[in-house]
Amino acid sequence: MIRHHPDKNMLLEYTVGSLPEGPNLIVAAHVQMCTECRAQYHTMNTLGGSILENCTEQSLKENAFEQLMGRIDQSPAPKGNTAADRPKISEPLLNDAPPVVHKLLAKNPPIKWKSITPALKMCRLSTGQDKYEVSFHRLSCGGKVAEHDHRGAELTLVLYGRFSDSNGVYGRGDFLLREPGEVHRPTVTEDQECLCFSAVQAPVALTGVNGWLLNRLIPFHPG
Ligand SMILES: [Zn+2]
Repeated sequence: MIRHHPDKNMLLEYTVGSLPEGPNLIVAAHVQMCTECRAQYHTMNTLGGSILENCTEQSLKENAFEQLMGRIDQSPAPKGNTAADRPKISEPLLNDAPPVVHKLLAKNPPIKWKSITPALKMCRLSTGQDKYEVSFHRLSCGGKVAEHDHRGAELTLVLYGRFSDSNGVYGRGDFLLREPGEVHRPTVTEDQECLCFSAVQAPVALTGVNGWLLNRLIPFHPG
């Protein structure tokens, strides 16, 4: 059961197509996994549509058409888009990932994990923008990530497994937003690995014992 969702404002920004591409991907993936947010998305879309119908042509923004097409492109998958319909991917933990993730995978080279610490691997994804680093993070069973704070926003969606931090436990489909200045230390449950999809606005600053070293080992590569 999904317990953690984007807030209403973020969902509204997603619906009208005003989120930057990095966060947009994470929210789109959550909406595709979450019936609750999908229902809200459809309600907001319907309301937005009726407002647009009452607008004059001149009052529409110049890029309204592109925004609309972008929304359609990332809207929840139609029925029938099952795992069996998709091309095979190299990472079994992503088999049940939502369509927007599979679409991104199709545009990227096969997944190559880079070890950051013994418990943490990551794979950066190319998304055609330079404001956010979009990547997968894979944590081993019982793994702990060095305590870190955030210089920019970090949006995370759990695609597989579970992890916890001082604020709660996060399972498949749960969405987290960490604001600049927040400190946390995610720990994975012992029973299975955890795989997350995230967009990071600026380099995270590791504050623990190994933080100084790791800050130099994890360069920031948006795109
Ligand atoms: Zn939700």
